[in-house]
Amino acid sequence: MKYIDEFRDGALAQTLAGKIAAAAADGRRYSLMEFCGGHTHAISRFGLADLLPENVRMVHGPGCPVCVLPIGRIDMAIELALEHGVILCTYGDTLRVPASAGLSLMKARAGVGERRADIRMVYSTLDALQIAREQPQREVVFFAIGFETTTPPTALAIQQAQREQLANFSVLCCHVLTPAAIRSILDSPAAGQPAAPSIDGIVGPAHVSTVIGTRPYEFVSTQYRKPVVIAGFEPLDVMQAILMLLRQLNEGRAEVENEFARAVSREGNLKAQQRMAEVFELRPEFEWRGLSLLADSALRIRPEYAGFDAERRFRLEYRAVPDNKACECGAILRGLKRPQDCRIFGSVCTPQNPVGACMVSSEGACAAHYSYGRYRDKD
Ligand code: SF4
Repeated sequence: MKYIDEFRDGALAQTLAGKIAAAAADGRRYSLMEFCGGHTHAISRFGLADLLPENVRMVHGPGCPVCVLPIGRIDMAIELALEHGVILCTYGDTLRVPASAGLSLMKARAGVGERRADIRMVYSTLDALQIAREQPQREVVFFAIGFETTTPPTALAIQQAQREQLANFSVLCCHVLTPAAIRSILDSPAAGQPAAPSIDGIVGPAHVSTVIGTRPYEFVSTQYRKPVVIAGFEPLDVMQAILMLLRQLNEGRAEVENEFARAVSREGNLKAQQRMAEVFELRPEFEWRGLSLLADSALRIRPEYAGFDAERRFRLEYRAVPDNKACECGAILRGLKRPQDCRIFGSVCTPQNPVGACMVSSEGACAAHYSYGRYRDKD
């Protein structure tokens, strides 16, 4: 198949649904986690859950970059823009994530009292670099979020800034790592933490895996004895991955398989990995929304590039802030609850007025369910 509509072919989807139904053994339940928000979006948008037999259940995972960003990190970005007067550049979805005191980056841009933050939406790190070149008298900070997909462009921007000696450019680095999040979901909970639901297999990330390859997921099969199938974001990709997971489970196999072979290899993009390794190192720990503090789960800028590290440059300190009490994002990101389990879903919390991060991005489980699934709740 070559074109995108071929991966959305309804007749082929029905054929795959028939194969999944035939593969789902009577008397057995299959609980599969789609790690990525991209898969969550596809499942909601194309109604894939309706094509699955009753004993095959999809559980949303934490793979939405905006959703896992804790409030304290947004607060740091707002502090940069309001207290330090920098031009803060970031990707569009990040602007609407709720922060402390009823703020968000977008609201800070609109004005807080007399102060108005200079916050700009960019499409790439190159846009942020260009703003820094054009305004040498201003400090420009790129607020970098996301998994391994968006990390290489941030590394390139920092290296480019160093080459150009752009002294007014720096990065607030909040990049996080997929394998650590998967491990956290599969591990036994820490004392006082609720246990995640038992997951039989994982539909693994598409875009992230183009960078890191399939090798970093092998611990899931060797240490946890669970199958993983890396899958593209089109509906037939997801259906095929579900079928592959069911077949593994039925045959007692726990392997890393690659449905997205048209873009992903076992080794991944070695050049991108090298750039990441040159610029970033592991943070000892990082707080994730919903997953709490995870060791070695995020990146920070290496000392060699300290001049481009906004945390060092502006002496920022991270302060953990609890989520809105009514918001169930944390439980949803661990697969413990569904969007419709939140009592303010679709009433107080909507995409126009998000209370939690899962309602912000189209990849967020709450936003996806709001856009494509909420009317089914009334059946
Ligand atoms: S509906 Fe809104 S408040 Fe409820 S869990 Fe989702 S994002 Fe949080």
